[in-house]
Amino acid sequence: MEQIQFLALGGAREIGANAYFYKMGGYGLLVDAGLHPEKIGWDAFPKAQLLDPYSVNSFIITHAHTDHLGGVPFLLQSQPQARVIATPETTEIARIMLSNSSSLLPRQHPQEVIDKLTFYSLEKIDEILRNIEPRKINNSFILNDAAPQDQQIKVTFYKSGHILGAVGLLIEHNGKRLFHTGDTSLHTQYLIGGADLPDKQVDVVVSESTNGKVDAYLSHSREKELVRLEATLTRILEGGGSVLIPVFALGKMQEALAMLWDGMRAKRIPTVDIYTGGMGRRIADIYDKFAYSDSRLNHQEVLKDIPQFEVPRREELFSGKYFKTPSIVLASSGMMQTGTSSYFLAQRWLRQKNFAICFIGYTDPRTPGYVVSHAEKGQRIKFGSMKREVPVRCEIERFRFSAHARREELLEIINRLRPKHVVLTHGDIDAMNAFGELIMESFPGTKVSAPENGKWYNLLTEN
Ligand SMILES: [Zn+2]
Repeated sequence: MEQIQFLALGGAREIGANAYFYKMGGYGLLVDAGLHPEKIGWDAFPKAQLLDPYSVNSFIITHAHTDHLGGVPFLLQSQPQARVIATPETTEIARIMLSNSSSLLPRQHPQEVIDKLTFYSLEKIDEILRNIEPRKINNSFILNDAAPQDQQIKVTFYKSGHILGAVGLLIEHNGKRLFHTGDTSLHTQYLIGGADLPDKQVDVVVSESTNGKVDAYLSHSREKELVRLEATLTRILEGGGSVLIPVFALGKMQEALAMLWDGMRAKRIPTVDIYTGGMGRRIADIYDKFAYSDSRLNHQEVLKDIPQFEVPRREELFSGKYFKTPSIVLASSGMMQTGTSSYFLAQRWLRQKNFAICFIGYTDPRTPGYVVSHAEKGQRIKFGSMKREVPVRCEIERFRFSAHARREELLEIINRLRPKHVVLTHGDIDAMNAFGELIMESFPGTKVSAPENGKWYNLLTEN
């Protein structure tokens, strides 16, 4: 039996520098190359040195989040021959995300690392993006046209929910089928629809497992979370306070903006000034441009038309001229990483009795966002690079509007595709263990593995 071999260069038993390499009959397909948001130095990059030179024939980017895209220029340094393939939506968002990485990297990593990054100049990024081969959602294509028919590798892009332009991949080779979920969500969000799945049985599923563990917040439905969020917003805004919502510039910001505006139009929440950040707004323009993308719902919603003010620059954040009247501020980053707008705004917000900070997504325990989101009124806290403690006087509430499949949805993917082998990636070890056990209980006889970074695996089982 001809094998499909698999090697994770990052993103196995963690969520970080996600990069997955498949080898089929001598053909190399790399899926994604991310950067780890928390790690410093080479640990933040995919392990490109594990690949032989010139071994990547094709390189597919599933979506434009930094933990899937940020390492693409780095990987291409050692695999310059690879043809890069992505949806048009992902390619456009990538321009904003990669230029942002290019300016952030020198501040995040030691000089000896930066000196070796030769593909992160704006000119080089532009060249990489110009060479991307666009393939739309629902398209099928052959990676190796020149190969004899029985050796051809066919890839089909399925929309994966999650964010604009995101895809999962069906890979067909030698009579075998493998589905790589990418970051996925079966449930619909406000702007982005749920994932589509192949309608046939597959041999292997390589699945993300972000929400593989039972999470109390994820037992609430989106609708219930929205009711709860709108009640908090109304109470704070009517009391004369302002609300800070930390968001990721890609995905969460656009979803939150559309959701808030919908609440204001329907008079479920008071109409107040909305502040948004520049990068999130530039990405929102791409959401508008692709209003009829297969990813999108609510095609008529034009984000640009929603009245917004720009989040003030860092030096003005503490000035008394902003947020005198009730406002809602959508500021990145979602996890309040040191140096970002939400990080500085939190320091002002925490001191204000009638203000609130509402978290609407996941926060990694190592980030300031986690510290703030778990703080209690009356405490004094310190986070990030702060020297002095701040008193917690404002309200802090947590909501979950996940862009990832819940645990039940992950199981539903397995139920629909009935693979013989499930390979778990993109989750912490607890989430993978919990989800792995659930699969084995629900589908006895299914092989489940959680590969390690840097180890080769054969994915096809004997029977
Ligand atoms: Zn993602």
